[in-house]
Amino acid sequence: MDEQDGDVNRALMLDGNAAGGMLYDLFTAEMTAAPTECASCGRTGEIGTLLAFTQAPGLVLRCPSCENTVVRIVRTGEFTYLDARGAVYLRIAR
Ligand SMILES: [Zn+2]
Repeated sequence: MDEQDGDVNRALMLDGNAAGGMLYDLFTAEMTAAPTECASCGRTGEIGTLLAFTQAPGLVLRCPSCENTVVRIVRTGEFTYLDARGAVYLRIAR
């Protein structure tokens, strides 16, 4: 990734709190304060501190330390696809 790509990415990025509504719909729980661990670098932090990209066809949450994709969520007319393989865990309150 060159310098210009980085600028474009920064321009498209929101913080994870902006994704709170979509996450609430999916998990029926407040998720922005939920802890998660990056599977790439081991950073732990609240989901709300991840970098959110909402201009994609879905929602992409990236680690602010290493920019690993932690969570991807894509909604179609009928289904929601959740890819959380970039996270060691997401801790969801019961
Ligand atoms: Zn990371």
